[in-house]
Amino acid sequence: MQVRAKKKFGQNFLKDRSVLEKIIQSMPKSDNVVAEIGPGLGDLTQELLKIKDVIAFEIDTSLCHLLRKKFAKEIESKRLQLICTDVIEHWKQNLLDRRYDLVANLPYYVATNIVIKALMDENCDTILVMLQKEVAKKFSAQEGEREFSALSVLARSAGDVRIVCSVKPEAFTPPPKVDSAVLLIKKQKSLSDPEFMEFLKRAFSQPRKRLLKNLSTHYPKEIVEEIFSTLGIASNIRPHEASTSIYHQIYAQLKEKIDAATKAIPASAPTTK
Ligand code: SAM
Repeated sequence: MQVRAKKKFGQNFLKDRSVLEKIIQSMPKSDNVVAEIGPGLGDLTQELLKIKDVIAFEIDTSLCHLLRKKFAKEIESKRLQLICTDVIEHWKQNLLDRRYDLVANLPYYVATNIVIKALMDENCDTILVMLQKEVAKKFSAQEGEREFSALSVLARSAGDVRIVCSVKPEAFTPPPKVDSAVLLIKKQKSLSDPEFMEFLKRAFSQPRKRLLKNLSTHYPKEIVEEIFSTLGIASNIRPHEASTSIYHQIYAQLKEKIDAATKAIPASAPTTK
């Protein structure tokens, strides 16, 4: 059956078998079930099912119909569970109520959001996903590199990060407008503090400005300066030059000092007329 790819669902079907093989070879050796987001025509699903049980989430009802036919046996034997839904709406705190590895060729319009959700999901152990190369670089960059960003700090705070391979548009039907890459994050822990993400957004709000300046726009300048001095951080450092560990140290101190300052103000301070 001829399927017309729907742009609004980010449908670019991966056809290059060598890339499919690279994804399979990079799979973690775990007993976890695989969560696949966007099985599409089922090419990756088929390879995954050779080695793992799969729970797949697909938004497009016509593709779900096709997949139910294609994988009737696997669905019957419960090796494949197909959930026909918008994964973003379905995903509350945890995508699944058991440990899982996320393996997917992601729809690019929600790829960053999905990776962040997986970084925060304590049931997710590994993230192995295809996404835009530019976004993959933002997640995998190292301190000092131009692409080092809030996303790099988030990913590196969760575990080991690397790009498995770059993928040219011709590997897909239809070809996307941009280059792609397969990103691998082996998580050692999950991110649980949404305020840390807010802090990082502020730190990188103007990537070419000084970190001290970016932070002082949102937090009391004298507190930020004191923290830089205590931690021995140069006042002219740019956001991409500070390490993941430095960001955690600055954040911990900021929280402590701001909490202390807030407590010093009585909750119901008398007002003067
Ligand atoms: N896995 C297939 C492959 O490798 O060829 C298809 C990948 S295609 C890039 C992205 C897939 O994600 C499509 O099947 C699309 O319908 C599905 N999708 C898009 N948005 C989704 C969402 N919010 N929830 C679940 N699936 C979604």
